[in-house]
Amino acid sequence: MSVAQDEIDRRVGLMKDALRERGMKLTHQRIEVVREIAAADDHPDVERIFRSVRTRVPTISLDTVYRTLATLVELGCVTRATLTPGPARYDANVTHHHHFVCTRCGIASDIIDPGLDAICVSAGTKRLGRVETVEVRLRGTCSDCERDGGTDRIGQHS
Ligand SMILES: [Zn+2]
Ligand SMILES: [Zn+2]
Repeated sequence: MSVAQDEIDRRVGLMKDALRERGMKLTHQRIEVVREIAAADDHPDVERIFRSVRTRVPTISLDTVYRTLATLVELGCVTRATLTPGPARYDANVTHHHHFVCTRCGIASDIIDPGLDAICVSAGTKRLGRVETVEVRLRGTCSDCERDGGTDRIGQHS
């Protein structure tokens, strides 16, 4: 599953507008970070975004990537998720969704599933307060890892 081109364009447009409104210059480096996160559907961490952008913009620094992402999070264009132990992962899908996380390669995929939205909570849970949204995280082995028979490939996806 990859992000459709029109959705990438839409996200890039929103992020550029938001950065501009914040008074940030749309430098080539920042735009490349925006493009990278807008097109990602596997929730990369800072390091992975940095390595990928660096292939196109060799002068980019990890700090620039980090700060651009932090601003996008502040502006509500990207969410920071702790889907796996270790560094935060970034998600440009800000609509309501659930996640499937592969415990072998660490890939996290978005799930849109009305069945998960409609999960029933027990009376005991309801006593804690009013439930407004439900975010479910499924953990398991992704179909790529299943096919590969379990080689450890953490960080190898690009
Ligand atoms: Zn996997
Ligand atoms: Zn997501």
